[in-house]
Amino acid sequence: EVAQAHLDRISAVDERVHAFLHVDAEGALAAAARVDKGEVTGPLAGVPVAVKDVIATKGVPTTAASKILEGWRPPYSATIYERLQAAGTVPLGKTNMDEFAMGSSTEYSAYGPTNNPWDLGRIPGGSGGGSAAALAAYEAPLAIGTDTGGSIRQPGAVTGTVGAKPTYGGTSRYGLIAFSSSLDTPGPCARNVEDAALLHSVIGGHDVRDSTSIPQPVPDVVAAARLGATGDLTGVKLGLVKEFAGDGSEAGVTAAFRESLEALVKLGAEVVEVSCPNFQYALPAYYLIAPSECSSNLARFDGVRYGLRVGDDGNRSLEEVMSLTRDAGFGPEVKRRIILGTYALSSGYYDAYYGQAQKVRTLITRDFEKAFEQVDVLVSPTTPFVAFPFGSRTSDPYQMYLADLFTIPTNLYGGPAISVPCGLSEGLPVGFQIMAPTMADDRMYRVGAALE
Ligand code: GLN
Repeated sequence: EVAQAHLDRISAVDERVHAFLHVDAEGALAAAARVDKGEVTGPLAGVPVAVKDVIATKGVPTTAASKILEGWRPPYSATIYERLQAAGTVPLGKTNMDEFAMGSSTEYSAYGPTNNPWDLGRIPGGSGGGSAAALAAYEAPLAIGTDTGGSIRQPGAVTGTVGAKPTYGGTSRYGLIAFSSSLDTPGPCARNVEDAALLHSVIGGHDVRDSTSIPQPVPDVVAAARLGATGDLTGVKLGLVKEFAGDGSEAGVTAAFRESLEALVKLGAEVVEVSCPNFQYALPAYYLIAPSECSSNLARFDGVRYGLRVGDDGNRSLEEVMSLTRDAGFGPEVKRRIILGTYALSSGYYDAYYGQAQKVRTLITRDFEKAFEQVDVLVSPTTPFVAFPFGSRTSDPYQMYLADLFTIPTNLYGGPAISVPCGLSEGLPVGFQIMAPTMADDRMYRVGAALE
């Protein structure tokens, strides 16, 4: 009944929201039937989940919202998808996103944008806008996202939902279509903090098939969320990043954030100002590192191995077919990143760009480590602005990249961070971000649940 109710909801509203690229009704009902028969049990047995289309799902179309993967049905599943299935969840289908997870609005999906359920004329964030919108429109109670530079948290913030980026290596990347391998982190999306923690605990943990997976158990995030929900934060130190002040956030965003901070102080938390002087370089460092890794990862889309192939008429060379396929299959933002990354990695420029960005990454990591000697978590708004109207930031890539101002430092460091709804500005949701030390994911769940 639960699976059917969500499929019915999708039929009723997804024409307007467009959260899904593919609905797997048959697969969902079969998974639900297995739970009914008692074949699978567990904390999430029977609970529907929507999965970002960048996750390989055996036999179920997986496109990463790109034309180049149209029609591809993976012969294997991502580890996290196998864990979802083993836990008895009911995967409803694949959600829309910016092509290859590059963007902050889903406007770069090759299959058309997702509309924000709060205002259909506005973006749902990105890249995981489909997963967040599916939650906000009650098409799914849980969803999977991936966070390379904010793609779980920023969509959570602008749709009034919860999005958590686990510690890098705390969730397996096996079967995740790679964008920037040193940053990519799958994680949970939900409508409340405890649900996100439950989903996190199901998908997280060591995986031998991912060489960067951390061979340690996930901290008890569910217990932490329940502890936070009791509303006592006595002794918890919240760090306010000095350099984030005067950052050009919308006034309404700052106001909602400040109000929530005061609410946390009433629960016993203490606010300490900390300095992270290198955070100001996070955006430029990220927009060199991520495109560099992407230019390498996306080299595999050659018109031979997967999906689309253009111009293979028997007379053209392999190189011509490859180039025609890539020209037709990749959208403008993906091309921009491949060109930028190839340039930054080329001989003579490597040290000046990529090498320099890696040094900045180390400095940002040190800023975090130093800050966490003084405080338990860092807090900030998730993103400087509320959901913006379609088309308002696509003409200048830099305007789009600014959406990631507060989310990206965490990715470069590798720690966990969560976005929790914290009120409205001009009738639109604002997100409150909590950043924790690596492998201390439980801390952000505790503070996040106290905020709810
Ligand atoms: N806005 C970021 C980018 O475009 C989001 C990346 C992500 O987290 N997938 O690179």
